Amino acid sequence: GNVELQAGLPDLSHHLSQEARDRLPNTMKVFLRTVEDASQLVSLANGDPHPTLYPISQIDYHIPDLTSLDSLSSWLDHSGATRKLSAFNGTGECALDLAVAMQYSTGLGLPVLRQRFSEINELLHSPRPCTQNVILTLGNADGMTKLYRLLGSPGDTFLVEEYSFCGLTNAPLAQGVKWQPIKIDHMGLIPEEMEGILSSWDEGSMGRRPHVLYCIPTGQNPTGATLPVERRRAIYAIAQKYDVIILEDDPYYFLQYKQETSVVSTESPGQVSPDVISRFVKGTVPSFLSLDVDGRVIRCDSVSKTFAPNMRLGWITCNQLFCRKLEILTDNSTQHPHGLGQSLMAEVLAPTGWGVDGYIRWIWAMRNEYGRRRNIFFDIFQREVGRHGYAAATLPTAGMFFWVKVNIEKHPKYHVNDVSPKYGPKTNAKGLLDELFGLCVARGVLVMPGALFAIQTPTGSSENHILDRPYFRMTFVGVDETIEKGVTLFGKALLEFFSA
Ligand code: PMP
Ligand code: PLP
Repeated sequence: GNVELQAGLPDLSHHLSQEARDRLPNTMKVFLRTVEDASQLVSLANGDPHPTLYPISQIDYHIPDLTSLDSLSSWLDHSGATRKLSAFNGTGECALDLAVAMQYSTGLGLPVLRQRFSEINELLHSPRPCTQNVILTLGNADGMTKLYRLLGSPGDTFLVEEYSFCGLTNAPLAQGVKWQPIKIDHMGLIPEEMEGILSSWDEGSMGRRPHVLYCIPTGQNPTGATLPVERRRAIYAIAQKYDVIILEDDPYYFLQYKQETSVVSTESPGQVSPDVISRFVKGTVPSFLSLDVDGRVIRCDSVSKTFAPNMRLGWITCNQLFCRKLEILTDNSTQHPHGLGQSLMAEVLAPTGWGVDGYIRWIWAMRNEYGRRRNIFFDIFQREVGRHGYAAATLPTAGMFFWVKVNIEKHPKYHVNDVSPKYGPKTNAKGLLDELFGLCVARGVLVMPGALFAIQTPTGSSENHILDRPYFRMTFVGVDETIEKGVTLFGKALLEFFSA
């Protein structure tokens, strides 16, 4: 048997790609593990650059003091005290000594930070079989592309929402992995559609039945949809029935908002009692990880949307076998994320920094602010766009995006070319939408055409006319002035377009 299997969990090793099976562990690292008590020996083995020869001796940083964090404005005044991030001192004043932080470590990443992330896992997703198995990544893009290589062999077909984040759906194509899109609605992926595809899959003519689902469950990019917990349970049950691994790409998990737009949340982090984390969790939809009993969920988390995108830092949580295979891939490619980022995050999450509790309070404040901007976007959208009836949008309850549907059939030049019994009308919508996009740019506003995110299967796209569907993705993350200007310009361009 495979020694890496996690006790108590089913054997999921048949999901590994040929590449993952064939990849040898880093020879030096394997060899050194065979030497007993290596740390007791005088080492002439590794050519690790010596810490006394690093030009850097101390790093300081500023973050807001959360004690004064009663309102958004106070988190932007940068009044926090100077804190020591890392130094050569060995006094335990900071989470990581510079000699450790800046030295080579293992593909998994530094234990101090992995420990913090697994703490976050257990607090937010409850202790589950895999919540302790954490490997650091350079963010979810790195995490997800490593997962495609872990599980995808040429000829495989993976399941995905019919619109998805194109940065990551392009990635495995060159590896010979194809996509099978699943129909969605305003609540995201439709479980019955997923089951329909799996139950009617004919391996003889279609190749291996999909064994992987790539899913963005919260504030989906681009549609903004958030899967309700009932759907998550149904999807998990289908994954168990058809033996599917769920890749949970959840960078917007932390940005979940209330349904109402009329009231801005009055709970500010400064007023939140010590049980901040359990109260935070109550306002979120349970993750796939929190429903996992088999070790078939692989969750990707990122600090990109809660701290800063160019931290290039995140973590994967999964079963021990997959985690070990990811460590081997990392040992043989990127190595662990850089020490500066790891020590900054470790320090922020340590008791000498904000602590995990403080990090969640920070996110709470940030989430309130993004929620306010979402409400502003929605109000202005209704005023400048919605009331004319040429476009509509539903209110997202998470993430950063509105998915705007243009009522293209109201355009004077709109016409139906053909009707297929299976896929419905074939129209000239795509050409009209290109025109509308051009007009938006000419009038000074940039929006994302929905077609960019459409999953184009080798045979399906021309039949199901997904490129004709009239959607634009628009973000509400900007400051009030950007939202006001941008939405107003879009409304004007739309009126001009429809009165052509
Ligand atoms: N190439 C060679 C020849 C090396 O000796 C090393 C480090 N020992 C590496 C690559 C890895 O370098 P880096 O730390 O820049 O990834
Ligand atoms: N996955 C999704 C769904 C995203 O929207 C993004 C960022 O836009 C990413 C992954 C990339 O995240 P990261 O910065 O963590 O690599």
